[in-house]
Amino acid sequence: MNSYRNCWEIKYVFVNTTTCPIPSNFSIMNGQLHDKSVHYRESSSSGRFCYRRCSSKRSSLKRSWTVYLVLLAGIPAQGQKIQNTGHVDYFKTTLIPSPVSPTPTTSTTTTPGSPPQSPIKPVVNHHRCDNSRCTAPVPTKLNVHLVPHTHDDVGWLKTVDQYYYGSQSHHKVAGVHRCCGQSTGGSSTSSTAFFWKWWRDQSEEHRTQVRALVNEGRLEFISGGWVMHDEANTHYQSIIDQMTWGHRRLQDMIGPCVVPTIGWQIDPFGHSRESAHLSAMFGFDGLFFARLDYQDKKLRSAEQRMEFIWQGSGDVGRSANIWTHVMAGPLYGPPTGFDWEGDGEPIIDDPESDDYNVNRIVDKFLDYVSNYSANYATNQLFIPMAHFHPIQSANNWFTNMDKLIRYVNGRQRNGSNINVFYSTPTCYLSAVHQSNNTLTTKADDFFPYASDGNTYWTGYYTSRPALKRYERVGNNFLQACKQLDVLAGMGGVYDKEVTALREWQAVMQHHDAITGTEKQHVASDYALKLAKSIAGCERVVNRAVAKLAAKSMANRTVQSLPEQLFCQQLNVSACEWTESLNTSLAVTVYNPYGQPVRHILRLPITNRSVQVLDPTGAAVNQTYVFPIPGPVLSLNERDSEALEELVFEAPVPALGFVTYTLKLQDADDSPIAPVVRKVVGDFSVQTPGFDVFFDRNGRLQALRFRDSGRNVSLRQEFAYYSSHSGTNSGPDRASGAYIFLPEPKEFATDNVIAPADCNYRAQVVESPVLTEVHHYIQKYLSQVIRIDHRSDTIEIDYTCGPIPVADESGKEIVFRWQTDLNTGGVFYTDSNGRQTMRRRRDYRPTYKLNVTQPVSGNYYPVNNWIAIWDEVAGLQLTMLNDRAQGGTGFREGQIELMVHRRILHDDGIGVDEPLDEPGVDGNGLTIRGRFWLQLATVAAATELHRELANRLMMEPVVTFNRLAKGQAPHYYKKHRTNYTALYNPLPRNIHLLTLERWANRTLLLRLEHFYQWNESREWSAPARVELRDVFREFVVYDAVETTLSATENILTTRRLQFRYTNANNHLSQAFNQTHRFEPKRHELNTTDLSVIINPMEIRTFIVRIKPKYYCNM
Ligand SMILES: [Zn+2]
Repeated sequence: MNSYRNCWEIKYVFVNTTTCPIPSNFSIMNGQLHDKSVHYRESSSSGRFCYRRCSSKRSSLKRSWTVYLVLLAGIPAQGQKIQNTGHVDYFKTTLIPSPVSPTPTTSTTTTPGSPPQSPIKPVVNHHRCDNSRCTAPVPTKLNVHLVPHTHDDVGWLKTVDQYYYGSQSHHKVAGVHRCCGQSTGGSSTSSTAFFWKWWRDQSEEHRTQVRALVNEGRLEFISGGWVMHDEANTHYQSIIDQMTWGHRRLQDMIGPCVVPTIGWQIDPFGHSRESAHLSAMFGFDGLFFARLDYQDKKLRSAEQRMEFIWQGSGDVGRSANIWTHVMAGPLYGPPTGFDWEGDGEPIIDDPESDDYNVNRIVDKFLDYVSNYSANYATNQLFIPMAHFHPIQSANNWFTNMDKLIRYVNGRQRNGSNINVFYSTPTCYLSAVHQSNNTLTTKADDFFPYASDGNTYWTGYYTSRPALKRYERVGNNFLQACKQLDVLAGMGGVYDKEVTALREWQAVMQHHDAITGTEKQHVASDYALKLAKSIAGCERVVNRAVAKLAAKSMANRTVQSLPEQLFCQQLNVSACEWTESLNTSLAVTVYNPYGQPVRHILRLPITNRSVQVLDPTGAAVNQTYVFPIPGPVLSLNERDSEALEELVFEAPVPALGFVTYTLKLQDADDSPIAPVVRKVVGDFSVQTPGFDVFFDRNGRLQALRFRDSGRNVSLRQEFAYYSSHSGTNSGPDRASGAYIFLPEPKEFATDNVIAPADCNYRAQVVESPVLTEVHHYIQKYLSQVIRIDHRSDTIEIDYTCGPIPVADESGKEIVFRWQTDLNTGGVFYTDSNGRQTMRRRRDYRPTYKLNVTQPVSGNYYPVNNWIAIWDEVAGLQLTMLNDRAQGGTGFREGQIELMVHRRILHDDGIGVDEPLDEPGVDGNGLTIRGRFWLQLATVAAATELHRELANRLMMEPVVTFNRLAKGQAPHYYKKHRTNYTALYNPLPRNIHLLTLERWANRTLLLRLEHFYQWNESREWSAPARVELRDVFREFVVYDAVETTLSATENILTTRRLQFRYTNANNHLSQAFNQTHRFEPKRHELNTTDLSVIINPMEIRTFIVRIKPKYYCNM
């Protein structure tokens, strides 16, 4: 029996507490009724609460639920509609179970597990694997599952709103109606972003109908993310956030029974191992996609391996496995000739008509499915029936599909073995599961994706580099905003602002957003919307920082707190507040990371007479004034008078802030100006671990370990690939937004970017704590190498653009670091910023690669880091970046990263625009970016780059307060200037991945172990965290662990299990990716709310909290 049938919901509780006694197990907080024994969720309308309690045992429900309630709605009993409820006064009643009809369950699917142990409460129950609505396949026939779906891009050729408010939206609604009218089931694949827009326009009656369709299993949501995320350029934190928000909104709209169980990634241009891992953690039973390398596809088709078990992680074991289906047809569209908005011939079945064509069309379809079935190992066949974009004419589609089904099945009377019916991905998966065949496994990923020998989809790893950086800025700010909203106890006042950024940040993960494969006006719209929603979240940060900084409780509620100001243009060294300093300015640095950090502030100033006071009010001794590099000063985007930056270091506690004060003062005590000198000969700079050598042109030459004396040659080179300008007919492909195709002659020798006037111009800026080498290479290319004398990480800060194209040739700019390390063509890249993937020149782990593109075929996505090792020497060079980029290490001892592309041709994939970003003045886009270079022993390297990668994703947020003359001492008296929200920093291997408000006094909390099991002797060990002992601001008194997107109780989630062989296939290699670690999972201890987290685990909790001061009262 499916446990959801005993799931009860009490909706819309309006309590009249003045006339009714309050039962003892209820409490009043904030004027709202709370029952500690039930999970509750605030609905979208203020004052409405949805209380749920779920159990698979009716008897226990009866016993425990002498309930004080208003109205019952047994949610998902088959055929029962959710009742619309109204205002009702509070009264006492007992629970009356809704009628439960016996339901057939297929023996092939797993049934939900036993009820959770007290006191853990389930979050929801739902009809996972309730396939009673699926058409039963006929075991002796070839069963053809026709799966109608739509593919709606959340921005691509049009903006999000242009797509939604275009004529398509009305037809899409019609499509939902029509598909779901089939008694045999239907599915909707709309991104939740669009569905949410649509939902808000619907009447309550219409919404009730949709809920009923879902609850009855006739309408299914698959994937359910806010968007269908890209897998190459996305960071795992943002993938998780966007999927969580999509699922959350689905549940807000439909109710608990809507939890998607299918991952649907049909359009992204290659697929990552980490995304597969996350899909398993979202609770998906299976994953469907369409794009994989043409050589891989050919082999898999021939060997009937288009379905397999993808082992998503080598660290967390079998729970990361996910059944995967690759579509063998022309992408995810219908068979050729069956697109009833394209090439499809309408089925004319009037025998009297001269155009009667039933037999011809049925023959064609039977031929197609017979051939298509050769790709798959079972007698189930999945045929997607779709259009690239929203179905315009649903009736047309369904009328023809109805006929197709009728006439194809009619042939069975003549002995046809083919049985065709409407289906859903879930029903198909259930049927395949029933076949119980043994699958092969896959442990690496599907990058790079080539659709033919000249069409490597590796350009989009770098396309639109400014937008890719802005997405990271958005994520950083979103995390800080969500955290501060919680820590300051804003109680939902700013939900609108937080959600706006949450939703646009989610949109940015779409496979035509962060990828840079949208039209220019769409990219501009994404950036504008992101900027507006960041501005909204500034209001949250403003109030939260002000509230947390107030020393007295009374001050936390008054409105006269100082306003926090922001400088969002520090990336071009511009800041209105520091430049116009005329008395004093409080500078607050909030650290969203769960460890203390040392943050170096670089604040543009126009007056050197500045004194810096630390959080205790004492003067900071080591403050410096560094010149802003010339190429930055001349940026067209820059609106600033500042020529210099004030530089000082601020140690910031974990999840907390410090406030420094800048004060105008007498010129005598000005910060120290470093020595600026021209480079005239070789020189070196010291870090704690290295001597860093430069030549007389200021070029990096080598690093010498100071302890061992070992020297590693390290030369930097700048180059570009000329973009191939093909016709896009036949094999003559052009380089473009998606595709990277350099001119063929450049495979061996390419265009090294030489200095503008044959001389490198460099100057060294030296201070006791920091040395900078300013390096001018060309008008469009410059960099600053920054060496912090207290750190072994070297920062490279570059400015690139506008790329010159006067020669009418597109160019794709790369940075290279050439070492003398022996790498054998092997290099390592991250997978969505998480797992490490081993790459090898001209090689794929599961098939023999025919090398057609020696450069672009060796490019891989780099989200956070790329590394090379010398295994004999035991050394690793790692480059970290500040945004997603394409990179490679196929040349011996070298790392290459592509930073910018400007292309004058379109690549014929669909954007139909050249990737020629205009920049602010129409002359071409200039970007600024940073790299961090780390050289270390292999044993130490991972600890360095894992921690830095986390810190770069969660950089401090800086806010400013203008203080009137003489107000500074006052500020110190009235405000906290050094604050942490944590009792202790988290264990060093644990990352506070998510902290956000989930409902009233309820938070979503994610903790992550960010090491793989074999990476660090010390930090790859499991770590224990007690949830009660983490936060100072509130008491965590209850917690439920959920799936990764917070939809189901982890203890009741049961995913489908499949039979598989361990061998990858006959080409399997002894790769570290095939080695799997099967750790013992530790469940949340519900007594002390402690949890032990294994390497690479992400644990998601819904926690209930009380403000700290409540306990003291
Ligand atoms: Zn798409």
